[in-house]
Amino acid sequence: MYIDFHTHIDFYKNEELQKVYKDIESNNIKVISCAMDEASYKNNMEFSKKCSNIIPTFGIHPWRVTDKVPNLDIYDDYIKNSKIIGEVGLDFHWVEDKYTYEPQIEVFKYFVRKAKEHDKYLNIHTKGAEGLVYDILYKEDMLQKSIVHWYSGDIYDLKKFIDANSLFTVSVDINHCEKSKEIAKLIPVSNILAETDGPTALEWINGIYGMPSEIINVYNGICKVKNINLDEFKDNIFETACKTGIIL
Ligand SMILES: [Zn+2]
Repeated sequence: MYIDFHTHIDFYKNEELQKVYKDIESNNIKVISCAMDEASYKNNMEFSKKCSNIIPTFGIHPWRVTDKVPNLDIYDDYIKNSKIIGEVGLDFHWVEDKYTYEPQIEVFKYFVRKAKEHDKYLNIHTKGAEGLVYDILYKEDMLQKSIVHWYSGDIYDLKKFIDANSLFTVSVDINHCEKSKEIAKLIPVSNILAETDGPTALEWINGIYGMPSEIINVYNGICKVKNINLDEFKDNIFETACKTGIIL
């Protein structure tokens, strides 16, 4: 079994969905489909009824935070039902509207506290705010419950997350980008997970619309960089998946 620890099935075009379900099932892939917001979570819930290998998770992506912090308590049931929390985090790189930064921090802190309260892992976006994400997780003692998604920050902050025993998802650029290979080399193999981040991530890298089975190339790319055997790596990820509660 392959496990994609961070994707967005709702990013696929409607006309692609049947092909997407088939690709997931025929390749024996479990996918964590991260929410961007409430509407995205509801879409992912619908997809999971059609394809049981899709695991919808709830969170509010930093790109969807505006200048005001919404009332987040209305999402309590979603949080309770979600096997892990995500996608959540901070983005001070792609998001240029600085007036969203404080609300982003408030929303992220809220989800970190909720994840702690319910003893759940978090799927975390850290772009351009790696040090601050670390500090917030450190204060709540949640670094060991963190899955750092597609890390691309500096090595200094990376090492802090590694020392704190956080998990990391390595993404579709592992076969294309030297910096990502360098990052993967530094992370202990027991802390590495794999992801595709939806169809557009690969498209951004090399122009190819990424189907879920791209996760196989990500697994192989990681194995090559870490010099480990594919079956051993699959077992590792499966074990971690059991620990995070996404597979019972
Ligand atoms: Zn994502």
